[in-house]
Amino acid sequence: MKASQFFISTLKEAPADAEVVSHQLMMRAGLIKKLGAGIYNYMPLGLRVIRKVEAIVREEMNRAGAVELTMPVVQPAELWQETGRFDKMGPELLRIQDRHGRDFVVQPTSEEVITDIARQELKSYKQLPKNFYQIQTKFRDERRPRFGLMRGREFIMKDAYSFDRDQAAAKASYQVMAQAYRRIFDRFGLTYRAVAADSGAIGGDLSEEFQVIAATGEDAIVYCPQSDYAANMEKAEALAPAGPRPAPSKAMEKTPTPGKSTCADVAELLGVPLSTTVKSLVLATDETNEAGEIVKSQVWLLLLRGDHDMNEIKVGKVPGLAGFRFATLSEIEDHFGCKPGYLGPIGLKKSLKIVVDREVALMADWICGANEVDFHITGVNWGRDLPEPDAVADLRNVVAGDRSPDGKGELSIERGIEVGHVFYLGTKYSKGMNATFLGDDGKPAFFEMGCYGIGVTRLPAAAIEQNHDERGIIWPDAIAPFTVVVCPVGMDRSEAVKAAAEQLYADLLAAGVDVILDDRGERPGAMFADWELIGVPHRVTIGDKSLKEGVVEYQHRRDTAATKVAVADILAHVK
Ligand code: ATP
Ligand code: MG
Ligand code: MG
Ligand code: MG
Repeated sequence: MKASQFFISTLKEAPADAEVVSHQLMMRAGLIKKLGAGIYNYMPLGLRVIRKVEAIVREEMNRAGAVELTMPVVQPAELWQETGRFDKMGPELLRIQDRHGRDFVVQPTSEEVITDIARQELKSYKQLPKNFYQIQTKFRDERRPRFGLMRGREFIMKDAYSFDRDQAAAKASYQVMAQAYRRIFDRFGLTYRAVAADSGAIGGDLSEEFQVIAATGEDAIVYCPQSDYAANMEKAEALAPAGPRPAPSKAMEKTPTPGKSTCADVAELLGVPLSTTVKSLVLATDETNEAGEIVKSQVWLLLLRGDHDMNEIKVGKVPGLAGFRFATLSEIEDHFGCKPGYLGPIGLKKSLKIVVDREVALMADWICGANEVDFHITGVNWGRDLPEPDAVADLRNVVAGDRSPDGKGELSIERGIEVGHVFYLGTKYSKGMNATFLGDDGKPAFFEMGCYGIGVTRLPAAAIEQNHDERGIIWPDAIAPFTVVVCPVGMDRSEAVKAAAEQLYADLLAAGVDVILDDRGERPGAMFADWELIGVPHRVTIGDKSLKEGVVEYQHRRDTAATKVAVADILAHVK
């Protein structure tokens, strides 16, 4: 590819709404262009990255025996009504109507449609196992689309679905996928962790997430450096021993100034940077005067659950608490639209704050809600559905330094970006849709299923979070928009430079290298700044002076300086 023919459009400044570095750099490098909230154009450079991600995923899925098909983006509601998800799924599911007033959904995932295909096409156990996958556009009307492609509303997912004759076979299919995922994520060249996950709303009990490690990740993951134990926070909490635990010692040592606590105080108290997004619930006590005004407010501890920006937590301000009723944890989750067993996120600028009534102290009957009027629930018992004060004994939270469940060491906590997820589903969908095949005993049996997702457009964002510097992106070779850029200096003035650049470009192309020749005639400074921002991993600079010595300059994006390399040796450098 020649840069003069390609489309390159870089920006000096990132737009103000780009909060994380991957979003900023993707916008500045011209990989994506915003069309609406959580909706982006994949521009030519960005699309090249996406296509490379897809190619690796496709290759490994095929190698693992999965078969590609494509299901419609717009799907008739009937199938979704069969499983009940049309009504149950909440506002993340985009429902639309056609001109006849018939209901449709824009697929957020495709269990219903694939199960419908299976019940028609897979008639006998002899056709099993089967694993179908697609790489297709998804739409989820996310409560809080943000961070560019990281949490878009429209995005690309690879979703696969396995069909098996019995549980043992389904678990074997699950393991095949779990292994394929390891190969895929190894190939991307990123640091990641496979962690045990709760199977959540989708059901089933075998579930792992693939988390790219990054400080800006929205998920907290728990692992034991002394063993291979790793889980996401929800799963770790589900396994943690029940019972109230002392507040983290930091919180006990120091409490913020009553009534004057700021976000910074809380951040300091918890030992986290103010700029990080933390998973948190603040527990606080408020003391009010007769007029109901808060005279004193103390933060007690923060649980590593929920989802907040520290910047949004306003400590010590709780407006009127009128008209509330008793609620259970699951009702709160319903109210805020969270996943079961998971509190938060709770909507735009609505910071969840748990307030413990002073009289009751750390017992039941808590007031819970955002720092906004009409966004509180009283009588909260932190015991899932247990109604009584001692319900709080069921409160589980996991903090760094806890003993690992395998007993082999202490737990550490880090942040991750969920880029893949594998699930064993069991018969949830096959039973829901009466999808059966004939077993070897001649009797119909429900399919045993699994589903397996990869966030194709989230992956590049995660890669950037992990690989960047002050000058821009540093792509791993596997997913770089171009592997090599050839930068001729003074191409318009020197025939020798022009000829050498064209020749090297042709040689690299012939050798199968994904190369771009920057023939735009930019000045060296602007040209290098562009490619450093765009993050092409290998750069070859050709200038008159070095050419006379029979060399060109090679520089990897991570190198601080260029090395002189004989023209004949350059291929070995970049392959
Ligand atoms: P999250 O917890 O981040 O909301 P999820 O658990 O809802 O993700 P899955 O249903 O497991 O997502 O979907 C499979 C994969 O699709 C995820 O692992 C993730 O990589 C990707 N994905 C999910 N939601 C989005 C989104 N809004 N934007 C981009 N990628 C997404
Ligand atoms: Mg989600
Ligand atoms: Mg998730
Ligand atoms: Mg998931």
